[in-house]
Amino acid sequence: MQYISTRGQAAPQSFSEILLGGLAPDGGLYLPTAYPQVTGAELDAWRGLSYADLALQVLKKFATDIPQADLQALTDKTYTAEVYRNVRKGEDAAQITPLRVLEQTDGGTLLLQSLSNGPTLAFKDMAMQLLGNLFEYTLAKQHAELNIFGATSGDTGSAAEYAMRGKRGIRVFMLSPHKKMSAFQTAQMFSLQDPNIYNIAIEGVFDDCQDMVKAVSNDLDFKARQKIGTVNSINWARVVAQVVYYFRGYLAATSENSQKVSFTVPSGNFGNICAGHIARMMGLPIDRLVVATNENDVLDEFFRTGVYRVRKSAETYHTTSPSMDISKASNFERFIYDLLDRDGERVRALFKKVETQGGFDLSGKPGSDGDEFAKIAQFGFESGKSVHADRIRTIRDIEAKYGVTIDTHTADGVKVAREYVQPGVPMIVLETALPAKFNETIREALGRDAERPAGFENIEALPQRFEVMAADVAGVKAYIAGRTGI
Ligand SMILES: *Cc1c(COP(=O)(O)O)cnc(C)c1O
Repeated sequence: MQYISTRGQAAPQSFSEILLGGLAPDGGLYLPTAYPQVTGAELDAWRGLSYADLALQVLKKFATDIPQADLQALTDKTYTAEVYRNVRKGEDAAQITPLRVLEQTDGGTLLLQSLSNGPTLAFKDMAMQLLGNLFEYTLAKQHAELNIFGATSGDTGSAAEYAMRGKRGIRVFMLSPHKKMSAFQTAQMFSLQDPNIYNIAIEGVFDDCQDMVKAVSNDLDFKARQKIGTVNSINWARVVAQVVYYFRGYLAATSENSQKVSFTVPSGNFGNICAGHIARMMGLPIDRLVVATNENDVLDEFFRTGVYRVRKSAETYHTTSPSMDISKASNFERFIYDLLDRDGERVRALFKKVETQGGFDLSGKPGSDGDEFAKIAQFGFESGKSVHADRIRTIRDIEAKYGVTIDTHTADGVKVAREYVQPGVPMIVLETALPAKFNETIREALGRDAERPAGFENIEALPQRFEVMAADVAGVKAYIAGRTGI
């Protein structure tokens, strides 16, 4: 299987060739030349599989240049009850993504699929843990090294560090704004003692950290010499790993392939729900894919109106579901490519317009850039928005009625899912984090602390290992060079 760019001007590449990279050279995102299809017979056969075996079946359709025995070893190592052990009481960690019925009314059934039982208590572990093992495997084959350099305000950085800790051939240099993350998030990252993990606390805000990552990425000479790479949400292997749990959720909620399910996905960069779109394009019987946003409603606006209007960073709200606080959605281009019948030329023009004019308009109104908004229903997409008061109300309501505490992002999902649930089609809400991660808001909603999984009770008291540095690119470059010895 070969991969091409959404902007139509990059040479086709194999799975392994795009694994360690980010954007395609023409500025687009990679997608397969065609989506592999899943037959009814395959779906039947997959019903009885363990999560690791299901992951192998999905992955091998995409990673056709990696021997199957090697893929099997990687999925077996990644998807274990030991790695995804932070389940709620009464849930079976061996399920990896346990599914529970949350709400059953005349209006329909709402289920919760927990994706947040990995080491950092957020769904990013589902893909990042596989990525760590895939990177280590590929680098060993190439006798190569990789220095991952990134900036984080919380979830992504810790998921990357827990996936890459102790991995041969890999170092992680992660910038975070000094004293700006929650005590829990800080402790999670800074308590890692692995010698290949370097936490750099920058005297500044998250935007300063991100600017420094951009400055280093633009220094092509330094980047090549120091073998700098990234693990952001546009990484194709991350998207593929996320496709697996849509299959898993579908198979767990149904007993035969004539049944359909819908998914509601708390969304920011459109990475998670993009995987749902791909699962649907492969033939998984998904009825609707519902995008749930918070106050930062770029995506909700698009799916309601056909107008994509990115926000300036000053217009981005800091909310109590912070992992969805985005001004533009980095994976969205993959969906637009399919919506535009894979016309790379037009995708390139539209995303140039995002850079120069801040957006594009597919509403079909006079003067717009196209009329594809009318086709969105064919792809099953719906959307909705949830704000702080909704979040608080939903956390309280779910706790009171069902005795389940959900986190703020998942609460945005549940709020929006209730607007779209319908009889006869199970609606699965993806749980994207455990409540312990966002305890401040749980206290506001419930007047008590969120329960912490075993092993996290005293995380703030563990010794911390980090370097405080000024927001100075030259200083950070010197720090990296000093650690890599290159
Ligand atoms: C990253 C994240 C999201 C948003 O996911 P996208 O793939 O960026 O749409 C939602 N909730 C939590 C808890 C996250 O960490």
